[in-house]
Amino acid sequence: MKEILPTAPAHEIVESRMKSIRGLFDRYVVPSYGRFEIAFERGEGSWLWDVYGRKYLDLGGGIAVCSLGHAHPEVAAVLAEQSRKLLHVSNLYYQEPQGRLAQEIVRHIAPGKIFFCNSGAEANEGLYKLARKVGHDAGRYEVITAFNSFHGRTLAGISATGQEKVKKGFEPMVDGFRHVPFNDLEALKNAVGPKTGAVLLEGIQGEGGITSATPEYLRGVRALCDEHGLLLFMDGVQCGHFRTGSFQSFQRILGDAGGVGDFLPDGISMAKSLGGGFPIGAFWVREKYADVLGPGTHGTTYGGTPLGCAVALRIFEIIQRDRLAENARALGDFFHGGLERIAAEVPGVITAVRGMGLMLGFELAPKEEMPALVSGEKPSSLQVVQRLHDAGVLTIPSGERVVRLLPALNLTQADAEHGLRVIREVIVGLAK
Ligand SMILES: *Cc1c(COP(=O)(O)O)cnc(C)c1O
Repeated sequence: MKEILPTAPAHEIVESRMKSIRGLFDRYVVPSYGRFEIAFERGEGSWLWDVYGRKYLDLGGGIAVCSLGHAHPEVAAVLAEQSRKLLHVSNLYYQEPQGRLAQEIVRHIAPGKIFFCNSGAEANEGLYKLARKVGHDAGRYEVITAFNSFHGRTLAGISATGQEKVKKGFEPMVDGFRHVPFNDLEALKNAVGPKTGAVLLEGIQGEGGITSATPEYLRGVRALCDEHGLLLFMDGVQCGHFRTGSFQSFQRILGDAGGVGDFLPDGISMAKSLGGGFPIGAFWVREKYADVLGPGTHGTTYGGTPLGCAVALRIFEIIQRDRLAENARALGDFFHGGLERIAAEVPGVITAVRGMGLMLGFELAPKEEMPALVSGEKPSSLQVVQRLHDAGVLTIPSGERVVRLLPALNLTQADAEHGLRVIREVIVGLAK
């Protein structure tokens, strides 16, 4: 197909387009996000183009959402095909894509069932309701989560999230959530009380700065939950869907430590990479509790539409056909090693490299220790992300001092090498 390219518009015209887009946001969009001064127009694979025609390597993946990158032809095709057949019928009826997607997810975890929704926060909401229903008659409604966790922005989501900054100004919180330090089994033991019904953890804390649960912690939490009759939930919204090289991050963490064995959570929430950019969320619930949420107890209009499920099914197919879990594992090792080398070569900038597969973070020295950064201004994570933007690479800040890489699972080796080269140049520039 021949593309007819317009002649490059004069810089001022593009500039005024950027201004007019900004103007629309300033006037009409609720200012709840801190946005970077970039407006994107199109993408292809792991590359994005802004309205100036500037090209960026996307190592942020839309915050772990764009599992197959941008404008994947097979995703575009399934969207078109399914939309010509059936978009939506409501959950009053049966349709094949939802049943098949549920089967596919169950196949990757263990016997159980799936509830479909539209986002990560909503998937977690379903798990809180499941915990409340299971513990209802015993008065057990409390869910324990970890400090530095992130579980979404709904009212129960911010109540569950172990970070003060998301709660501030929205008190009182939903009753029944408490937080304990992550990877601290003793603290969790001490927090369990007669009202505790469940524990919810991320296998790898994403917004909290890319911190993995240790295998001992996961096993210890499972044993503790068994001992007290608590449900163990894993939030796999960011760390799931093959990102770590396994379907769920706990499978990778335990696999690396000798095997998953009989470890199994009671519920797992999913979203982000599941739909590759098409909004869809889900939770898996273990067989034992799979029928707790009976007719009329939970629902959502858009959950599991034929369109969303057809897209998610195609993404599953492609990930398996193209061995993208293996790719995530290999490129994860490549980035991890490369970042470690940069940290050693350029002292005083990168203080730690964390994560696994294509969920990685590098921690920066405090900005006061990096004269190249403007101290007293934005946190070092934001300033470094901005410098990477200027160098044509997109990454995601996490807290004050961590820069995250959450690229597409089909990132190529060549693009990974390019990305690492640019990161190195920017880091070298910070040491000066
Ligand atoms: C993004 C995220 C959520 C919330 O997902 P939304 O789709 O934004 O509601 C929940 N948990 C984790 C771990 C996340 O990263």
